[in-house]
Amino acid sequence: MTDTQPPTHETGPSPDYTSERGEKAAPERADVLSGDFGSFDDHHPPAQELLDDCVHCGFCLPTCPTYALWGEEMDSPRGRIYLMEMAEKGEIPLEGAFTTHIDRCLGCMACVTACPSGVQYDRLLEATRPQIERNVPRSRADRLFREAIFTLFPYRRRLRAASLGGALYQKLRPATMDRLLAKLPRRLERLVAMESLLPPVSVRDAFARTPIFTPAVGTRRGRVGMLTGCVQDVFFHQVNLATVRVLAAEGHDVVAPAEQACCGALGLHAGREEESAERARALIAVFERAEVDVIAVNVAGCGSSMKEYGELLADDPVWADRAAAFSAKVRDVSEVLADALADSRAPRHRVDATVVYHDACHLGHAQKIRTQPRDVLRSIPGVTLTELPEAEICCGSAGIYNMLQPEAAGDLGRRKADNIRGTGADLLVTANPGCLLQIRKYLEGELPMLHPVQLLDASIRGVRPPGM
Ligand code: SF4
Ligand code: SF4
Repeated sequence: MTDTQPPTHETGPSPDYTSERGEKAAPERADVLSGDFGSFDDHHPPAQELLDDCVHCGFCLPTCPTYALWGEEMDSPRGRIYLMEMAEKGEIPLEGAFTTHIDRCLGCMACVTACPSGVQYDRLLEATRPQIERNVPRSRADRLFREAIFTLFPYRRRLRAASLGGALYQKLRPATMDRLLAKLPRRLERLVAMESLLPPVSVRDAFARTPIFTPAVGTRRGRVGMLTGCVQDVFFHQVNLATVRVLAAEGHDVVAPAEQACCGALGLHAGREEESAERARALIAVFERAEVDVIAVNVAGCGSSMKEYGELLADDPVWADRAAAFSAKVRDVSEVLADALADSRAPRHRVDATVVYHDACHLGHAQKIRTQPRDVLRSIPGVTLTELPEAEICCGSAGIYNMLQPEAAGDLGRRKADNIRGTGADLLVTANPGCLLQIRKYLEGELPMLHPVQLLDASIRGVRPPGM
């Protein structure tokens, strides 16, 4: 791995490009207004005014994980924006290098945090990925692998069925399996990555249900709806139970509708726009019927997408207003809990531990939620919070990235693990199941890893945190 490199003019687009771009600006805009979107189709191509916001200064480069890995301009935010501009002008096709460099982007949004010009790379990427999914044929193997992911992960019943096989596999897995996997041909590396991310499976947890209604303890503050999620509910069911307990202990009625399904986040981040819009509509209808004041989410990636339903369905005359109203109610669980801290109802017991908090990208960068989880953790007596070097750099999980791009994800995972080790913390907490799986792969058994609500739940109940 190469070290993170500072932005330099040498690695950026040439001055020639800048002047050429300036000269062509007027006719390009006229082309766009007349409906010519270059290599993009006409369904929400990356907006020219968003592309124009980038002044190519390069301040985002040091925080971009892929630039940190390879030092390649086209694997930096600036380079990807440059590619989008070229595609917008029809100078390059979407197939080939364009798709390769966009596919390599983690969608971590560290560049959005770093950009002093307020470039909305998140919106640019969200407009670009569906263009690729619609217009670029993928290889058979790539297509099949992606279909397998999206045929399994968004479906709780299928995940539960798969958990039976997973539990059996883990029980019978031969000691020589790692050596056998290492010998598999490189083209099967995605399958190997998938295998290595399998969490310890508890069939009992996988088939357990989150209570549909849990009354508030003591005086009621309000009625909170709760997203139970797909992977979260099946493989991290204890996190959901802890979430219900802490919200109820802090005075919220908690409603977790049984009929809710996947929020569509995994698909949305992969450019599967139509499929995700359909899931969004279904979830909005479920929570409208639940008549809740807010919708609490304990998965960073899901919360980030649900806050964007308003934009996703903005063109839909039936759903636009309903989606905007839904998104306005979505809060990360740490936001709900932090709001209650000034008037906290649930006494905490001591947990003597040095805790390192890992900011999930979709919480820190995408939702700008950094202080609330830390405030909640600091409300636990005995907890000492320590900060992580290179906290802004993604761990390599990024939704399904660690399955699609296992080599880059592996480099980032090892880098994150080294940084965590260096803190000497007793415990790692992070608010995203994907991050937990990814980091666990590189720190297996070295320290316990929990969702923040699990630590708070243990403190409120006066029990030892899981794994400690
Ligand atoms: S995205 Fe922002 S920080 Fe990065 S090059 Fe463009 S203007 Fe500069
Ligand atoms: S989203 Fe992350 S990986 Fe993609 S360009 Fe921005 S910083 Fe780099």
